[in-house]
Amino acid sequence: QALHAEVEARSAPPAPAGSEAVARDPIEVENVVKRFGKVEAVKGVSFRLKQGEIFGLLGPNGAGKSTIINILCGYLLPDEGDALIGGHSVRREPQAVKRLLGVVPQEIALYRDLNALENLDFFASLYGVPARERRARAEEVLHFAGLYERRKEPLKNFSGGMLRRLNFAVALMHRPRILLLDEPTVGVDPQSREHIFENIEKLAASGTTVLYTTHYMEEAERLCQRIAIMDEGRIIALGTLEQLLAMRDQTRAVYRPHGLQELFIQLTGKTLRDL
Ligand code: ADP
Ligand code: MG
Repeated sequence: QALHAEVEARSAPPAPAGSEAVARDPIEVENVVKRFGKVEAVKGVSFRLKQGEIFGLLGPNGAGKSTIINILCGYLLPDEGDALIGGHSVRREPQAVKRLLGVVPQEIALYRDLNALENLDFFASLYGVPARERRARAEEVLHFAGLYERRKEPLKNFSGGMLRRLNFAVALMHRPRILLLDEPTVGVDPQSREHIFENIEKLAASGTTVLYTTHYMEEAERLCQRIAIMDEGRIIALGTLEQLLAMRDQTRAVYRPHGLQELFIQLTGKTLRDL
């Protein structure tokens, strides 16, 4: 099958110069600025994700991570710049963007009076998943989330980790090829966290593109192929873990708690942990 795709690619006519039909990266963020009154939450941020990549946005509380996620999913409009999801502008084509994306918001968004199965069915209906397919997909994502046995229990019985896993499962019902995960492990037990990480890795291995925000540097190190370090609305460093570690001024390191921590201190004069 891979060979077939290659032959097809080679025999396809070349795209004319300046054509719109260039292959786009799944996520392209271009000079995005966002203000809330006098607060400039995002101050000209640009980055791109490759297909199947797990990309980390790492930064302390207030860095602007959720604002970027909210712009990418069409919940907020940028004041300047634009972002493209699968080549579609979040400004001009919000409906196309919504269909391509799965979003796991920072705040858990579930109906506490419904059970897991009912929540999945409800949110899938909002995403236009046909009724006849919803049950099978719900069972698939429940297995994936490790919640199949608990599917008919009221959410009142669910731990923080189980709610997080269900919140994640909701985002998978319409089978998005691009996932935005906003601090999906906050308040989660270590076992659920590892479960969530393994699921993210499986999805990425099957070609899903993942944007992952966190304020835990060890999560970014463990999970992400590339990391953008954010502070006060700006990306202050971007690269693979190896590239970021190589940016450290080894001679000036005062103490060495941790690789990325040290880089963050050198760039900002403060620790990630204390914020
Ligand atoms: P992070 O997700 O990295 O913690 P946010 O994107 O939530 O950061 O916030 C970035 C900055 O924008 C913070 O100073 C925050 O207080 C401010 N902010 C975020 N959302 C709003 C809003 N709806 N109204 C006013 N200020 C906001
Ligand atoms: Mg946030």
